[in-house]
Amino acid sequence: MPSVRNTIAGRHAEPTGAERFRAINPANLDDVIADYAFSSPADIDRAVAAARHAFPVWRGRTAAQRAEILMQAGAILQSRSAELGVLMTREMGKPLAEAVAEIGYAGRVLQFYASEAQRPIGEVLASGRPDVHYYTQREPIGAVGLITPWNFPFSIACWKIGPALITGNTAVWKPAPHHPFCSQALLDCLLRAGMPEGVVNLVHGGAETGAAIVGHAGLPAISFTGSTPVGQAIFRSVSHRLGRAQCEMGGKNGLYVHRSADLSRAVTLAVEGGFRSAGQKCTATSRVLVDRAILSDFTEMLVARVAELKLGDPSHAATFIGPVVDDRQFAKVRQHIEAAMAHGHRPAIGGLDKPIPGGYFIAPTIFTGVTPDEPLAQEEIFGPVVAVLPVDGLTEAIAVLNGTPYGLSSTIVTNDLVAAQRFARDIECGVVNVNLPTAGVEMHAPFGGWKGSGLGQPEQGLKIMEFYTHWRSIAMNFSS
Ligand code: NAD
Repeated sequence: MPSVRNTIAGRHAEPTGAERFRAINPANLDDVIADYAFSSPADIDRAVAAARHAFPVWRGRTAAQRAEILMQAGAILQSRSAELGVLMTREMGKPLAEAVAEIGYAGRVLQFYASEAQRPIGEVLASGRPDVHYYTQREPIGAVGLITPWNFPFSIACWKIGPALITGNTAVWKPAPHHPFCSQALLDCLLRAGMPEGVVNLVHGGAETGAAIVGHAGLPAISFTGSTPVGQAIFRSVSHRLGRAQCEMGGKNGLYVHRSADLSRAVTLAVEGGFRSAGQKCTATSRVLVDRAILSDFTEMLVARVAELKLGDPSHAATFIGPVVDDRQFAKVRQHIEAAMAHGHRPAIGGLDKPIPGGYFIAPTIFTGVTPDEPLAQEEIFGPVVAVLPVDGLTEAIAVLNGTPYGLSSTIVTNDLVAAQRFARDIECGVVNVNLPTAGVEMHAPFGGWKGSGLGQPEQGLKIMEFYTHWRSIAMNFSS
């Protein structure tokens, strides 16, 4: 078994913490990927010192030089997508085609941010004072802390690393512990592309390691993606020490099937959003709201389509649903199903039967007749479980969709322009889709949740440049 190593100041060394972690292939529990130590506070101190030491050097490079490295790293990542897809599937169970696609996307994200080197970093202002040249300029913040979850091992890291680096910052990156070799592979792509030592420092670890980063006075900004309770605690903690935080968090995303919808399209969108990645996307469809007039036809079609989905080995091309990521997620999703059944629900399909032994497999599960205030309709499940809620029209659908603490992504399926426009105007979330799945993003659009789904600047797109930079206004008197 290869050893898991941090990369600090370009040097690879095993983490030195007392806590250990066993990374296991969720599709085959006999396949132990790594058994390794988390990073200690001393490791974090070293990583922060390395990032701070590298900052003046990296900031001193021209944007074009920084871009060249990101461009190259993106190309290396793309060229390795087939090989690294296999690794990702083994480490966290994402079906192979989805894993390969994610890595290609991650490479393009690095290149998208590289292209920012050619765009303005400030503006010229008219001064009210004579003979004063007045202009603004973005400046990097320094060494930043990046904390990422397991469900997108490459792309989420890249949409933090890309904007952080192109603007001249350096970073300490702590990924989720499930996929240590994916994380190392991403760092390797950056180093092979010519990234100087210490510009991104990889530290393996869990919650305590993350907390040491969050509390570190040497990191003026923290960008986090993960669950809502952790993100909210991080935002409070970083704000308390007067740092800058940006948190993308959980969701309880809903797809509303309007009476005008093409039902076949609605079923496809519900299946894509609800069950791809075994429902483990922050934007996964967890609630499907359906107008009563079409409820029985839609539900029958949805259950029939879900019955055809192939659950199994995520490395097989025919597999639609692989395992959930780990024992914790397996127990949590099953508890949600148990609680729904204790509440009197019987799944229309799926449920608690263990469909495949030897892995964390959960059958795609649908509950019908769910009411808006039940835990099934309120809490993030993060697994292949969809709740169907009957509603009477658009107004009720919007009220129900807005009636959770989350606000990440919503979809309306409709052929009615008025309904689509009203939906887009009144829904309380950061991502709105019409006749598209709740899941799915494009890198040049801002991506961020409202309410309990996001705090601070949205990610992706160019809005995030605000997070990674300070503004400086420069007034230059050239009168003689
Ligand atoms: P998590 O909150 O448990 O962990 C996320 C990361 O934070 C991991 O690296 C983890 O080790 C670290 N961490 C955990 N506790 C910490 C603490 N106290 N201090 C600092 N760091 C800590 O989330 P997860 O289970 O890894 O990921 C699933 C969650 O992420 C879901 O809620 C999902 O909706 C959310 N998510 C959100 C987005 C988004 O962009 N909105 C994207 C992907 C995932």
